[in-house]
Amino acid sequence: MRDENCIFCKIIAGEIPARTIYEDEDFKVILDANPASRGHALILPKEHAANLYEIRDDLLAKAAMLAKKLAVHMTGVLACDGFNILQNNGEIAGQTVFHFHIHLVPRYKGMKNDDMLNWTHEKFTAEEQDSICQQLQAGAESLS
Ligand code: 5GP
Ligand code: ZN
Repeated sequence: MRDENCIFCKIIAGEIPARTIYEDEDFKVILDANPASRGHALILPKEHAANLYEIRDDLLAKAAMLAKKLAVHMTGVLACDGFNILQNNGEIAGQTVFHFHIHLVPRYKGMKNDDMLNWTHEKFTAEEQDSICQQLQAGAESLS
């Protein structure tokens, strides 16, 4: 269920703070602390699984459906022009946190990260991140 050394398990348990935009029985969705774009969010299953190979099929299916709902919701709130849905497995593939997660990366025309396989980070102040989080929370309850 939980890995004591896992940072995302600690975020899910509320032991490490994170800007949560959506939560239900199975998932917590947070803003990425080092966003590649405005509104970059992560879908975290509450049950610990290291990667795609380990996650339960039913949770994977639910995560995919939640990604779709959130992409629609976030496009409405953020007025982004497109979306990258990314999911890394293993260090060689760029995975740094070994608790399955799906990246939701809103894309904007003219944004600096044209190549999402080689992205750098954009800087937002804590106030800007708080504001983005509040915008995304509004209306997200209805997604469950
Ligand atoms: P990965 O490289 O494993 O696919 O993605 C891990 C993501 O988690 C990175 O984009 C990183 O910025 C984000 N991340 C790592 N630690 C934290 C944290 O403590 N809080 C939040 N909100 N995001 C984190
Ligand atoms: Zn975990």
